[in-house]
Amino acid sequence: MTRFVENTITFPYQRSLGPVVGAFMTALTERRILGIRNGDAVLVPPMEWDPATGAELALDLVEVGPAGTVEAWTWVPEPSAQHPLDRPFAFAFVRLDGATTPLLHAVDAGSADRMTDGMRVAPRWKGTRVGRIDDLVCFVPGEEPETDGDDTGPAEEPVTRMDYLASITYRNPVPASADRVVEASREHRLIGLACPTCGRVYASGNGYCPIDALPLGPDREVELPQTGTISNFAVVTPVQYPGQTETEPFARVFVLLDGTDVVITYSPTVDLHADDVHVGLRVRAVWAEPGTGDDATGGGMTGSWGDFLGWTATGEPDVTDPDLVNRIF
Ligand SMILES: [Zn+2]
Repeated sequence: MTRFVENTITFPYQRSLGPVVGAFMTALTERRILGIRNGDAVLVPPMEWDPATGAELALDLVEVGPAGTVEAWTWVPEPSAQHPLDRPFAFAFVRLDGATTPLLHAVDAGSADRMTDGMRVAPRWKGTRVGRIDDLVCFVPGEEPETDGDDTGPAEEPVTRMDYLASITYRNPVPASADRVVEASREHRLIGLACPTCGRVYASGNGYCPIDALPLGPDREVELPQTGTISNFAVVTPVQYPGQTETEPFARVFVLLDGTDVVITYSPTVDLHADDVHVGLRVRAVWAEPGTGDDATGGGMTGSWGDFLGWTATGEPDVTDPDLVNRIF
């Protein structure tokens, strides 16, 4: 059975809200819902522009609700992690009293049998509100608004910005050959796969020769030397975005292993400052103390895998072969 690893990348940022959405979000912290007049209509949520003509709307905000009427709905029997509620609920168009347009939001009705077009619903507010649409947890059947837990009151300042957290989670299959590389690292061994057809040796990849489309099983494993020469490198100067743990410039190096045609790519350095990294530098593999390595597979963001930590200088004289820099794989 194929093993998978799951990775999540998040991109936290703030967006500015502008005069209309900012006022809407500020009002949510006060447990009020605002619309904006557009001629005889009241748009909820409020917009800066007439959605039909694109004309700018005057800042003529009006309070609506708090109760409203369900105009249309769909039942969500199995909520995902992204959904506003962790139990079955309805997504509904709720036209708040005094509004012309419906607001799309969740209705916590308990069961689909309780949902009808025309049913009356009222807001359920969070106790602590920050000026986001989910300050309004959901709507509930009936006319009376409710508040979850203790009410900590409205925002002290007008809400002008909103935290936004975009994220993506993906799952990658782990080839059996990558697991074997990690296993070998526990014995402080570097292994590769030799193709019987073309003779090339691969130190990473999916367990295939990409040239001959030939699967390379454990019987094709070969021991690799643990010394080599840096053929290329990159120095990363970390930007202090949220979640960044590195503070100093660090290097990722490409190492051409001695007596082979194999380049180990994008590896970390150990006790080797980024300023001292250069093409031609002689290096050797550095291994973790038994039991202290991680379970990462080759190709991860850290560049280390299993008990392999990276490369450090041997102290030998540099190699001056001008062809070295052409070896990036
Ligand atoms: Zn081959």
